[in-house]
Amino acid sequence: MNVAPHHMVIMAECSACGEAREFSKTSLPPGLRHAEVREVEKRLKCASCGAKAGKLRFGSYRDD
Ligand SMILES: [Zn+2]
Repeated sequence: MNVAPHHMVIMAECSACGEAREFSKTSLPPGLRHAEVREVEKRLKCASCGAKAGKLRFGSYRDD
């Protein structure tokens, strides 16, 4: 998870219900902060529908 530059916004999106919210790396337990993205995704649980179907999307909102 340390591959993302600080200007990169991470969104956690639920593929079951479509709920998306900004994902903060600092909300991860310390043991997961350097885990691979797919490992983190496996642990995502949607706060809206409860499905474990989260996907992380990386995007930059900077104007180049
Ligand atoms: Zn959901």
